[in-house]
Amino acid sequence: MRRPGRAAYLLFLLFMISALSACRSTADGRQHQPDQQQSFPRYIFYFIGDGMGLAQVALGEALAGEQGGLAMLRMPVTGLMTTYALDRSITDSAAAGTAMATGYKTTVGTIARNDRHSADLTTIAEAARDHGFGVGIVSSVSIDHATPACFYAHADSRNEYGAIARQMAQSGFDYFGGGYALSALRDDTLDDELRRLMLQKGYTIAAGKEAIEAALPGSRCWAVGAVDSKGALAYEIDRNEEDADLAFFTRYGIRLLDHHRGFFLMVEGGKIDWACHANDGATVSREVKAFDRAIGEALAFYRSHPDETLIIVTADHECGGLALGNNQVRYSGRPSLLDYQQLSLERFSAKVRAWSGSGRVSFPMAMDSLRVYFGLGNIDLDPLLALSPPDSIDLAKAYQACMTSSEELNTYGRSDPFTSSAGALLNRKAGIGWTTGHHTSVPVPVFALGRGQERFGGSYDNTELAKKMMDLCGLSPVAKE
Ligand SMILES: [Zn+2]
Repeated sequence: MRRPGRAAYLLFLLFMISALSACRSTADGRQHQPDQQQSFPRYIFYFIGDGMGLAQVALGEALAGEQGGLAMLRMPVTGLMTTYALDRSITDSAAAGTAMATGYKTTVGTIARNDRHSADLTTIAEAARDHGFGVGIVSSVSIDHATPACFYAHADSRNEYGAIARQMAQSGFDYFGGGYALSALRDDTLDDELRRLMLQKGYTIAAGKEAIEAALPGSRCWAVGAVDSKGALAYEIDRNEEDADLAFFTRYGIRLLDHHRGFFLMVEGGKIDWACHANDGATVSREVKAFDRAIGEALAFYRSHPDETLIIVTADHECGGLALGNNQVRYSGRPSLLDYQQLSLERFSAKVRAWSGSGRVSFPMAMDSLRVYFGLGNIDLDPLLALSPPDSIDLAKAYQACMTSSEELNTYGRSDPFTSSAGALLNRKAGIGWTTGHHTSVPVPVFALGRGQERFGGSYDNTELAKKMMDLCGLSPVAKE
């Protein structure tokens, strides 16, 4: 005969087990109480590698070194995404960013507006804000550049940098991180105005690691790293070790945002694209790895919230027509030769420009610096680094061209002839091929992990990616009064 009270005891035990399993601890020890009705991911990460096609990912993987393989390639679901703009098969970051942020195609150069420029398009970040989520926007390039702008601003042209930057203050977002505003760097009056607007809206402008670390969770913050004259963080290959990288801005974004009912965090690896425009393979591989470390921060968060997190990693378009193979070395190229490059072509070009100004650097001295910074000619490192007579003739001609003209660096750091020749030579020997200094129209990869990940497999358009995310996350645009 069963003793009285046994059934009640078992019921109590079952109740306690289910109550405990419904209440999980976060990494910081706080308790998250999942809403039983909640079927949407509450933590949404949107990583965009600007210019990062499959070959850029493969190059980062080939040169991952101590970092091990790339985290993005270990995510369980993979898709392929078309990137074309409404008016051109080869897109730009504005049209692609608009498609990926809003689910609508628009014309090249347009920031989150329709193709006729008659209406603003609601972005997934704005929808997240309107649903009570915390929102953060991180980029390694200037925060008023096209990709980040497509999430918080609306403009007929990506070149309206000032008008775009002012919309940061009106966005109601919680966190901006990474680069500064290019428009403000170019115009002191605008800089004062922008800072005043941001302060009025309750933002702390925190410059440098210490100030950012002091910012409190729940406060609005614009966190700015060590930036160059374009408002961008340094290339990873050139970065001072103590300076904040993309992973730092991602980590602090999570810390600042993780107090809302959920959050949306967009992180752009913007300088992958710039290095591709410069056909600088070594710098591309380092940028991809830095981008992947930022993804690692989201993965660490995911491990504490596996049922409530969605991580999407993708690109807005490919840049450079990068290939892992070329006709010169055919099957003998070795991508690891790129690891001998010590600095970006952009930074080396600045040195060459200084030489041409001083007139004190001879050709043999210039060749010595190629040996130091690129390994070129140093067969002790690798026999493939040997310079053939035609290689040396090309470099001599390029050196002469530099010493007799003072070509300016362009926006994307395209180099002087000597730097270009040296970079092309190392890339060629490494078996790397480039077809263009501009974008291409090949589809880009999508990697997904987390709640609803299965929806992101297969092949689709960039507008579909935004729609899938908004649908999955319950972020349909909220109608305005
Ligand atoms: Zn580009």
